[in-house]
Amino acid sequence: MDFLPLNKWLPNLKRPLVIAGPCSAESHEQMMSTAREIAKIPDVRIFRAGIWKPRTRPNCFEGVGEEGLKWLSDVKAETGLLTTTEVANTQHVELALKHGVDILWIGARTTVSPFAVQEIADALKGTNIPVMVKNPVNQDLALWIGALERMAGAGINKIAAIHRGFSTGDTSKYRNLPLWKIPMELKSKFQDLPIICDPSHIAGRRDLISYVCQKAMDADMEGLMVETHINPTKALSDAAQQVTPEALAAIIEGLSLRTEFGVDRNFEQELDLLRGQVDRVDLEILEALKTRTDIITKIGLAKKEKNIMPLQIQRMDELMKKRLDLGKNLGLTESFVKDIYDTIHSESVRIQSQIVNDFDSKK
Ligand code: PEP
Ligand code: MN
Repeated sequence: MDFLPLNKWLPNLKRPLVIAGPCSAESHEQMMSTAREIAKIPDVRIFRAGIWKPRTRPNCFEGVGEEGLKWLSDVKAETGLLTTTEVANTQHVELALKHGVDILWIGARTTVSPFAVQEIADALKGTNIPVMVKNPVNQDLALWIGALERMAGAGINKIAAIHRGFSTGDTSKYRNLPLWKIPMELKSKFQDLPIICDPSHIAGRRDLISYVCQKAMDADMEGLMVETHINPTKALSDAAQQVTPEALAAIIEGLSLRTEFGVDRNFEQELDLLRGQVDRVDLEILEALKTRTDIITKIGLAKKEKNIMPLQIQRMDELMKKRLDLGKNLGLTESFVKDIYDTIHSESVRIQSQIVNDFDSKK
């Protein structure tokens, strides 16, 4: 694939490229008042707004449709900001082109569908309008690459990828897990492909936005797309994650940027690789502990049969000595091995006592 660098299609670009604007276009007044404030922030070059909203459930606010495209062109005329919106089918593409939208993006729910992506690619043939492709909702790098390839196949070379996190069911911290390894892998396969981070859909809540923005900068991403609304709490979609233009200015101001691209990228990749190894080893440790616990349970049941005490001091001393020797041979600190085996052993005693006591209470 052939990608034109960002600064070739956006002259005088400073890092990071910031795209800001509401999740959804709601009214002319909301669009204009938001855009006027956003235009005062020098790093913001592009104004975003969703015109057709892919909502999880029907009967939510599904966007204002074509009328919103006129508001986008008013934003451009008054502020000089470039405009971008999400397209999901041929009709969206035709209307967006008719109203002079500068850049299009493909949403996460569309990237998962090769038929929909191909339909958009076919509608875009011959235009060479810039297109940003969000990652698919699921953690499937090939699907993301496939969508980028379909755009390239339509003759587009002004392409960017947007990292908006992945839906894994784990929403304890993030709405969509960032899984930084995936966009980093994309970057290592296609080094000229610009990657823009969408911290809003990753975080799902405004207090996490600046943290995710900094992570994106540390991962050497070229830009940020931040949902920004003049009155976020009253937004008709994604109210919890939108920030005011004022908050956006403070977030951008607070970013510390890495200048030595190459060094940091290698360092981040190396760190990610090592962290992945730690994750796998931890899984092995936990699986081994589960196997050990199952064996201990069998021993407990056997002891119950023979009416033997769960705690046998002599066996415990022997076991500890053997484990400390093994650990020492491996170069592990004695106190570390001792602490671990104290914990493991007291859990074994607890399991076995429970089994034997159960037996006692049924007698
Ligand atoms: C959006 O940008 O408002 C949006 C719908 O995002 P995503 O496709 O990432 O869910
Ligand atoms: Mn949104």
